[in-house]
Amino acid sequence: MKIGAVEAGGTKFVCAIGDENGQVSEQIKIPTTSPKETMNQVINYFKEQQVEAIGVGTFGPINVNKNSVTYGYVTKTPKPGWSNYDFLGSMKKELNIPISFTTDVNAAGYGEAVQGAGRGKENVLYWTIGTGIGAGYVQNGEFLQGISHPEMGHMLIRQNPNDIYEGHCPFHKNCFEGLAAGPAIEERIGKKAVELDQNDPVWDYIADYAAQACVTATLVLRPDIIIFGGGVIHQEHLLKKIRKHFKEQLNDYVDVPPLEEYIVRIGLNDDAGIKGALLLAAKELS
Ligand code: ADP
Ligand code: ZN
Repeated sequence: MKIGAVEAGGTKFVCAIGDENGQVSEQIKIPTTSPKETMNQVINYFKEQQVEAIGVGTFGPINVNKNSVTYGYVTKTPKPGWSNYDFLGSMKKELNIPISFTTDVNAAGYGEAVQGAGRGKENVLYWTIGTGIGAGYVQNGEFLQGISHPEMGHMLIRQNPNDIYEGHCPFHKNCFEGLAAGPAIEERIGKKAVELDQNDPVWDYIADYAAQACVTATLVLRPDIIIFGGGVIHQEHLLKKIRKHFKEQLNDYVDVPPLEEYIVRIGLNDDAGIKGALLLAAKELS
């Protein structure tokens, strides 16, 4: 089966061709400019390829509520031209095939749940800590969703009193994303996060906050596994620190799997999103 996948990001769109098993055969990159310019290239690529279905994982926020008249729209975003843009509609109008539409985080989480670190697990929570922080929760193959997709990255956090950084989130200042996403780390230290010594206390703050997010998610969702991806997680030492804080904070209140198996690193790395999108397209077809 020939299937398409789109990973839509703030700087580039990755469009891929692959199969229902998530195997990618080719891909192209298209710069994210105006919706019209970018989407024309996306649509032309898939027209030429004659795919049977497409899976889209995109930056957001987006409307994922199928009962809404603006289902498939990008909602409000600072990206010029993309606010209130009918992303899904623009593709459907030209391509007329089944298209699955979700967030970039959900798509990566789905890839992880089906073929990555969460393979074989029923309840999979996926976090990404990169330019922003987001989470997707896949339960028995379906996304957790209320009136819209979760926004767990903006969870409120108890800040370490020694961490005097005011926070980077334009809405909440010191929410999880405001304290722990890449730009927050870099604004705090005035250099690239990759240049920060692994023994610096800032990493301990980040781990503390990520652990708090895991404790809250554990209590609310009771996942089988919590998977971390995103640029910041390239720091190999971080997971160990997160597990340490998590153990202290949860204080054995509920039973969870051994922490080396419970809080883990992404399995598919940079392929999670595109593989997830292919698998979601295949699901849409079946
Ligand atoms: P995006 O979120 O835009 O998809 P990434 O997940 O790669 O992209 O996240 C980019 C962020 O990750 C940057 O803000 C940078 O600070 C951080 N980052 C990237 N690589 C590393 C690294 N090796 N160590 C720590 N932080 C990193
Ligand atoms: Zn916030």
